[in-house]
Amino acid sequence: MLLSSIQEKVNEFVLKSPLNIIEHLESLSSPPISYAPMRIYELPLIGIASADDSLWDTFKNINIIGPAHKSPGEWLPGAKSVISYFLPYTERIRKANRIEKITATEWLYGRWEGEMFNQALRQFIIKLVEKNGNNALAPVLDKRFAVDNLRANWSERHAAFVAGLGTFSLSRSMITLKGTAGRFGSVIIDSPLDLTRRAYTQYDEYCIKCMACARRCPPQAINNKGKDNECCRMHLYKEKEIYNPRYGCAKCQTKVPCEDKIPVNLVKSN
Ligand code: SF4
Ligand code: SF4
Repeated sequence: MLLSSIQEKVNEFVLKSPLNIIEHLESLSSPPISYAPMRIYELPLIGIASADDSLWDTFKNINIIGPAHKSPGEWLPGAKSVISYFLPYTERIRKANRIEKITATEWLYGRWEGEMFNQALRQFIIKLVEKNGNNALAPVLDKRFAVDNLRANWSERHAAFVAGLGTFSLSRSMITLKGTAGRFGSVIIDSPLDLTRRAYTQYDEYCIKCMACARRCPPQAINNKGKDNECCRMHLYKEKEIYNPRYGCAKCQTKVPCEDKIPVNLVKSN
């Protein structure tokens, strides 16, 4: 199975799936607004990691994720590759959330309905691989997937890092060629694929430490050392109380230099 054929079929799914279009958005902020149908995601970036990459074991370090983190072979016996992807939000969703403080209705839908689409895409890739005679598994859809004390036993962002899609940022998001505003997903397969070269060596190489995300954060959860996860989580809880079942914020991912690209190093170029 070739990466080009996976990319082609995944692109087709993203373009044609009705789950990637929201026909009716109910206004979740006041004053009420009437919304046109909305596309959630642009075409994804896809990267391939080796299931045997030595980085997987390093994630078991308590200072990175922790010992509960499972490597690809612990999820799927005979694992050979990990398909990781980044789904960038459309400009409409990103632009809407550039407003201050309040989470845009478009973002709330993009976060909630967008994750439903993401689940469908994981299942689509699994079927694609199985049709080809191989086994596949998406850890976040597996019954063993668990989150304990804010640490999951599989991290989509860390998988994206191994698969060459991008690096971490001050706001603890990932910065990819198409920026940070979007969602990640991954599928482990027992077939070898051509690996994606990592164009970086440092875990946070694409973040220019401009602090724009910190200035945007309503509860001031970000400082020059990183993000206070608990502070961010409490803010998201409050959002859920207002917009239940939806929630979101991501002010740190919009109206910032890394919103839709790897930011140029403003410090060096000035
Ligand atoms: S806004 Fe600036 S500091 Fe924050 S993640 Fe993006 S590049 Fe890094
Ligand atoms: S999601 Fe919101 S609360 Fe959390 S770090 Fe980003 S801006 Fe701050």
